[in-house]
Amino acid sequence: MTAKFENPSSVAGMDNSDLHCIVIGAGLGGLAAAALLARRGMQVTVLEAQSTPGGCAGNFVSNGYRFDAGATVGCGFHPGGPLEQLGHELGIEWPVTPEPVAWQYRRRGRKLDLCRTREGIIARFPRSASFWEEQSRMAEMLWRLSENGLHWPLTSLPDLAGLFLKGVGGLPGTVSLAKYATGTAHDWLATHGLDTMSDFIRFIDAQLMISVQATSREANALNAAIALDLPVSGTWHVRGGVGRIAELLAASIEKDGGAVVYNKKVIRLDTIRREALGVETADGDALAADIIIANLTPDSLEQLEGRAPERAKVGIRSGWSAFMLYLGMDSSAFRMAGVDHLQIISSDGRLGECQSLFVSASAADELSRAPSGQRAVTISTHSRPEPWFEALRSGRAGYLRMKERYTRQALDLLYEEMPEAEGAVRSVKAATPVSWERWTGRRLGYVGGYAQTSLFDVYGPSTRYDNLFLVGDSIFPGQSLPGVVTGARRTVELVLRQARKIRL
Ligand SMILES: Cc1cc2nc3c(=O)[nH]c(=O)nc-3n(C[C@H](O)[C@H](O)[C@H](O)COP(=O)(O)OP(=O)(O)OC[C@H]3O[C@@H](n4cnc5c(N)ncnc54)[C@H](O)[C@@H]3O)c2cc1C
Repeated sequence: MTAKFENPSSVAGMDNSDLHCIVIGAGLGGLAAAALLARRGMQVTVLEAQSTPGGCAGNFVSNGYRFDAGATVGCGFHPGGPLEQLGHELGIEWPVTPEPVAWQYRRRGRKLDLCRTREGIIARFPRSASFWEEQSRMAEMLWRLSENGLHWPLTSLPDLAGLFLKGVGGLPGTVSLAKYATGTAHDWLATHGLDTMSDFIRFIDAQLMISVQATSREANALNAAIALDLPVSGTWHVRGGVGRIAELLAASIEKDGGAVVYNKKVIRLDTIRREALGVETADGDALAADIIIANLTPDSLEQLEGRAPERAKVGIRSGWSAFMLYLGMDSSAFRMAGVDHLQIISSDGRLGECQSLFVSASAADELSRAPSGQRAVTISTHSRPEPWFEALRSGRAGYLRMKERYTRQALDLLYEEMPEAEGAVRSVKAATPVSWERWTGRRLGYVGGYAQTSLFDVYGPSTRYDNLFLVGDSIFPGQSLPGVVTGARRTVELVLRQARKIRL
């Protein structure tokens, strides 16, 4: 269901125009929250350290290519999906087209297309049929539970009552979700006798790594159920690059009277007891605000407060960053592959660190993204950040050697599973966790959100300050375009609740 606002500045009889909200960071979470608040008439100023919006879901231009920095697959645009609802509410027509194949899984020379039906997967792993039936039922219930916002983690009695009404009153089957609420995906697979099927487990682990940042032994079963639904709920190609979504949100904020200011890095937060007063920026400005939203990890927020990072909640951090290759490639390689997204997995060994790659190419007809006859290609693999920073501390030469070694390993696996790529590479640019720290301001370049190992050890938008809220993939429900937009709605609710209190 989509809300309609006849007079945006006075939703629910409330005039928001006297309140000023500063949003630190123009990632998708920050922009979505800012756009919703600007639409509700609040004065909104987004301060972004970089010269372009989007962060992990941004674009950058290099040597005639427009690369997706991180995110490459558009999701959440299905009817009633978080992006579809957001676009409807803000009057944004997203430049998206459905992808016939979400991505192609390749391992040991075999290919499996993941698309809107589970038939291909069941044909490849026939014993898994009952698992997918149950996954489909669970995902349907979870999608319905999250419709119109999910009040999680609970912060008040009305939240608890709302969840009860949605879950128990509205959806009788939801009670059955309770049995998996604290189990792992591996426990769930075991109930179907699939926990010893190594090929299938490797396939599931590969899917979970890119969605919940953990493999089946650690991932929470309910998080896994919804993550495994991604190809079925549909994926979309974003024309012009995923960064177009951020650009359109920034334009919406400005249309509604807000401002998005680039090259404006916040370096300090001014606070007194439980109140945030304003921010200071690297160029010497000081800005006051009634409400502040931080599109940051909790670690990075603590740095702005001048506090040493606290031990994170158990399971809150994935501990992952990413190693990336940005390649200019001949179009022909992807014509032969028949798909624009591939997930390439090594035969054995731990996933990540160049043993699992996600490969995405700009579409063949997107002439604005690459020189004629070529594609802008992004390859990512999970990587632990600490060794990169240690290497850098020991000297630039060691760090560069490590970068070269990773580049070689990633390309070797690419050529092994996609021989058509060999000889098609025209240019190579690598990025490491050190680059991610620089690009997103996230301490140690932690990207991809928290590891979804528990439904209960999660951050929500609230912080130690009454008028400062978090947004982005560090808060529930976590990473991805739909994840951060869903989280942003929750942040907006709490901001509006706080706005009412300020006026009392
Ligand atoms: C490699 C990779 C691949 C991914 N692939 C996909 C995918 O295919 N599909 C999908 O749906 N999701 C994908 N994701 C996840 C998705 O991109 C992220 O979950 C989401 O974009 C994170 O948004 P965010 O709001 O947390 O903000 P971020 O992206 O973290 O943005 C934060 C912004 O704040 C700015 N900032 C930080 N500190 C300051 C400061 N002090 N002052 C001012 N500005 C500041 C940063 O410059 C940045 O622009 C991927 C992520 C990665 C890393």
